[in-house]
Amino acid sequence: KYPLSDRINAIQPSPTLAVSQKAAELRAAGHDVIGLGVGEPDFDTPEFVKVAAKAAIDAGHTKYTAVDGIPELKQAIIAKLQRDNQLSYAANEILVSAGGKHSIFNLLSVWLNPGDEVIIPAPYWVSYPDMTRLVGATPVIVSAGFEQNYKINAAQLAAAITPKTKLLFLNSPSNPTGVAYSAAELAELAEVLRAHPQVLVATDDMYEHILWSQESFHNIAMVAPDLKDRIVVLSGVSKAYAMTGWRIGYAAGPAPLIAAMKKMQSQTTSNPTSISQYAATAALNGDQSCIGEMVQAFKARHDYLVDAVNQIPGMKCIAGDGTFYCFANVEGLMQAKHCDSDVALCELILTEAKVALVPGSAFGAPGHCRFSFATDLDTLKAAVSRISEFARA
Ligand code: PLP
Repeated sequence: KYPLSDRINAIQPSPTLAVSQKAAELRAAGHDVIGLGVGEPDFDTPEFVKVAAKAAIDAGHTKYTAVDGIPELKQAIIAKLQRDNQLSYAANEILVSAGGKHSIFNLLSVWLNPGDEVIIPAPYWVSYPDMTRLVGATPVIVSAGFEQNYKINAAQLAAAITPKTKLLFLNSPSNPTGVAYSAAELAELAEVLRAHPQVLVATDDMYEHILWSQESFHNIAMVAPDLKDRIVVLSGVSKAYAMTGWRIGYAAGPAPLIAAMKKMQSQTTSNPTSISQYAATAALNGDQSCIGEMVQAFKARHDYLVDAVNQIPGMKCIAGDGTFYCFANVEGLMQAKHCDSDVALCELILTEAKVALVPGSAFGAPGHCRFSFATDLDTLKAAVSRISEFARA
């Protein structure tokens, strides 16, 4: 009765949401389920950010704004990119959107035609392949497993590029693996890209600040400044400032691309929420120590969890550099429990141990599970003890 478009039929609903839904159903049925599926900080938005939002309402900033964002926020983003990344951008090279996801979708919408290929290193953030399909382009998945720390190398990138390749996604530190590319690794990828001028790079820096590696944060534009006119930096305030619900993301890149993305936004969503834009301005311009406090907590949980997961029979994981995710290889446990997929194992862990994890196949990495440690240490310990008991049974 309602024959839907080919476009929407080509994609799947977000699998991370599917797990939360199943967990919610069990909870509604009276079960005590520990959810380690979520992808958002458990911390509250910093107080000074909320104050700025309330002040914006009181000042009457409740109307349409410029489509590409208020000038104050664009300036705050420009200052951030200079301060943290030593990258210089002009106002016409910045677009503010309704979350990082929206920024990415705007870029894909204006850059890709049907038949174009997009290189997506796996494990990948769940939305890259489906957003690519939504605009009619073809995801080309390049897999990097446990033994290579879940990072693709130059040879793999070179082998994946064809004359149809128009975009490469990089996400470091990565959701779901938590690993970050070093400057040297990025330099090797950049060297491959120099030979292929038709390829644009989308660097998704959403977890830039949630990082504890020895090496400070680098993206490919910082490592290969000569490629800056082929790189779009994508980021936002969602994770660093515990602002997932405010929906502010941004893109920084070549002016013609940003202008096209602005045009797309002007005919779809118009400006992101005015009040959120003032809040994000405060977050970016304000005291950044709020991030350090959250990162310290995430690091302590990470250290606990990596050690604990490696003691669960049939699970193994590597230490991450940042984010609030731990990505475990669970092939051993799948075998022990006669599960033919990570999805089946996650379902078993949910129904028997009452812990919600996200199956690795959602991220293009079958045989894995993602733990989110955006929850307090006591809850994590309880989850680990339940899964250990399940694994040993
Ligand atoms: N990029 C990555 C790697 C993410 O993990 C997320 C959120 O989970 C996003 C982008 C999107 O962030 P936002 O909530 O601002 O749309």
